[in-house]
Amino acid sequence: MAHPLKHAQSSARKFGGRAEDYLPIHNWFDESKAFLADFRHRALRHHAEGIFLAEKLFGVAIANSDGNQVPVRYVGEQHVKEDLGRIPTAQDWLLQIKPQRWMYGQRLDKETTSTKEELV
Ligand SMILES: [Zn+2]
Repeated sequence: MAHPLKHAQSSARKFGGRAEDYLPIHNWFDESKAFLADFRHRALRHHAEGIFLAEKLFGVAIANSDGNQVPVRYVGEQHVKEDLGRIPTAQDWLLQIKPQRWMYGQRLDKETTSTKEELV
């Protein structure tokens, strides 16, 4: 599943109401595609911590157009499971990063292309 509207339609089938009720939550999960237009964008929000962040942003529950309260966490879990088949942790994503020198604070020396540690 890819487009937020498809996730929202799935939410309406699962929790009732209309797709529009859920679209802001699904749009939020996939907004990171603006930073990187392939599947790797999911590393920013498609994990357990992302689901809890969605709950902080949207509240514990939303009222759908049927008048029912739907937990935001359930909507987030549905989104991540539909995309990934499971709910990873942020650590699952972060451990896949290939470390680079600049990531731990060493600067690349432009003249020699070697690295040089800060002595300050
Ligand atoms: Zn997604």
